[in-house]
Amino acid sequence: NSLKIMDEMEALLASNGLESEVKIVKTGCFGLCAEGPIVVVYPEGAMYTRVEVSDAKEIVEEHLLKGRIVKRLLAGEKESEDISKSLEGVDFFNRQMRIALRNCGRINPEDINEYIAFDGYKALEKVLTEMTPEAVIDTMKKSGLRGRGGGGFPTGMKWDFAAKQTAEQKYVCCNADEGDPGAFMDRSVLEGDPHSVIEAMSIAGFAIGATQGYIYVRAEYPIAVKRLQMAIDQAVEYGILGDNVLGTGHKFNLEIRLGAGAFVCGEETALMTSIEGHRGEPRPRPPFPAVKGLWGKPTILNNVETYANVPVIILKGADWFSGIGTEKSKGTKVFALGGKINNTGLVEVPMGTTLREVVYDIGGGIPKGKKFKAAQTGGPSGGCIPTEHLDTPIDYDSLIALGSMMGSGGLIVMDEDNCMVDIAKFFLEFTVDESCGKCPPCRIGTKRMLEILERITEGKGEAGDIEKLELLAKNIKASALCGLGQTAPNPILSTLKYFRDEYEAHVFDKK
Ligand code: SF4
Repeated sequence: NSLKIMDEMEALLASNGLESEVKIVKTGCFGLCAEGPIVVVYPEGAMYTRVEVSDAKEIVEEHLLKGRIVKRLLAGEKESEDISKSLEGVDFFNRQMRIALRNCGRINPEDINEYIAFDGYKALEKVLTEMTPEAVIDTMKKSGLRGRGGGGFPTGMKWDFAAKQTAEQKYVCCNADEGDPGAFMDRSVLEGDPHSVIEAMSIAGFAIGATQGYIYVRAEYPIAVKRLQMAIDQAVEYGILGDNVLGTGHKFNLEIRLGAGAFVCGEETALMTSIEGHRGEPRPRPPFPAVKGLWGKPTILNNVETYANVPVIILKGADWFSGIGTEKSKGTKVFALGGKINNTGLVEVPMGTTLREVVYDIGGGIPKGKKFKAAQTGGPSGGCIPTEHLDTPIDYDSLIALGSMMGSGGLIVMDEDNCMVDIAKFFLEFTVDESCGKCPPCRIGTKRMLEILERITEGKGEAGDIEKLELLAKNIKASALCGLGQTAPNPILSTLKYFRDEYEAHVFDKK
């Protein structure tokens, strides 16, 4: 629909003689998915939400031609409501802090000049002309940036391990195989600001001594893949990628590799096995990829959001970044808000923001005035956070303490109508489907758990089922080979921790 609105506006601008005065910029996602399609008119910053093709005429004739911000009702808005909000005046935006998403919804991702106009590739230039690899790694370490893909491993330390290896070839990889149900953070960055990832990967290449990078993107993201390829081609054309980056002698080339929709390929060793052309199955660690990764060479792998932070850290400094967030979790985190929440979409908030602020102040609360019951963070690897912990500051460690995890940033809200046993079953069905089958605890154990859960939810549960489920969950967690299996029991363990009564009601009251 957005493209049709753009075509209509272009035609209207031409017929009103405004085509040379007003430029239409096609951007990536603004984040406020619930209110899209969105048109923002600058310099006023007036935001029109839920725009339809038929609204284009009024925006052009009233706002652009006469300078009158349209005050009337647009599709989906309540009567009397002023739909022309300024971006800064909307709680959804002004309570956020956008570092990784800084350019999303702001620039045309298909035009390298727009990225450059917003300080793009300045960090790379600074690194190549003013800094040593050691100074770059030191900056990353001091910034406190931790991996945003789920593990939360300190990025600077990972880079340092790889930098210290001696090898004739090293690699830099980007994990864009975002597969959690409800997560679309990486997709948004790739579609809205692909150059930020390219710039960061080249900086990483300089820091660890790598000349080749791979971005592993799921094939189900065709727009992300297309824009990424366009961005790579433009970067080559501008001398930003290649054998003599920005005329400094630094060599860095980048290629895309497409994933075929296997969730397990988000696991770092499986991802690398897949890039090498084999079936995407995890390998035991150690050796860790920083020592023996792609084709046995030292390799670093970070996810899209992690990389998107890097150029800003280089430009604004480690102290600036480490001043944001909590003691052990620095910077911001992007969350994909979904489920029973009014403002579904993407939000980026400082670490330490409470779940209540995210759900109510930014997310606009629960539809139809229903009660919040729990939020699932970390997708199928995470767990739920119930009402009594709404005021917990969200960071890596607080979520683990609650029995959940940050994961890559999916945040699904449940209301009073949701059955938490069904929620646990939903996530377990996903992991059973996605298990690669290499190790028995995950291949067989998760299936047995699912059978018990199915029994319970069909009202056929027996005394002892809950205990069996718990025992299986703990054993799988302790013995599975990779993160997928080790975290698969989390949704069950956390719902058992906070909502055991719902399991008991299914078993004993046959509800
Ligand atoms: Fe495969 Fe599951 Fe074992 Fe991971 S834990 S290696 S996904 S079977």
